[in-house]
Amino acid sequence: MTTLDEAAAWDMLTQAGAYLQGHFLLTTGRHSNQFFLLSRLSEHPAWLWRWAQALAARLEPFGAKTVVGPAVGGIIPAFAVASCWQDSRMLFAEKDTNGGMVFKRGFQIHPGEAVVVVEDAVTTGKSVAEVIQAVQQAGGVVSAVGAWVDRSQGPLQFDLPFIALLRVHHVPNWEPEACPLCHQGVPLSRPKGPTSVNRER
Ligand SMILES: [Zn+2]
Repeated sequence: MTTLDEAAAWDMLTQAGAYLQGHFLLTTGRHSNQFFLLSRLSEHPAWLWRWAQALAARLEPFGAKTVVGPAVGGIIPAFAVASCWQDSRMLFAEKDTNGGMVFKRGFQIHPGEAVVVVEDAVTTGKSVAEVIQAVQQAGGVVSAVGAWVDRSQGPLQFDLPFIALLRVHHVPNWEPEACPLCHQGVPLSRPKGPTSVNRER
């Protein structure tokens, strides 16, 4: 199967706990009633495989056999997409102490190598832009970017074809003072924190 319909995709996200509804503190400091924990989709490899095949099919026309993901969120998606293709390679880039992304662990891009960058979710595109830069510095050529979910609410920090299986552009969010859930006294949670102290739902 190389397609994934939107209803099935949402169903898997919800069942996996990768899409939460409640009252959440975002990394920006704002509050929201929705939260994505896309790593949780990877808890179900058979489901993730369907996403990977759908994304791989849509990225295939860009002609790259090398898939690069930003650590940590992009590692499993990049690996899963690369596994759909014969003779592919998969690498990941990591945060540098200077703030950008670099290849470590002996990973190397060959001069002129065609690459697609794959991430779990793209919000501003900052990590993806840093990976693109790392690939370009190594002499590679990024032809497209893929993600499970496009969560952008404005212009992205990269200018390349971008394929996302789901597009979610209107997640409500508020400054804490203006948050209706705070006014209703709904407990605030921080879903990305340690599981032992932040039980979800
Ligand atoms: Zn709130």
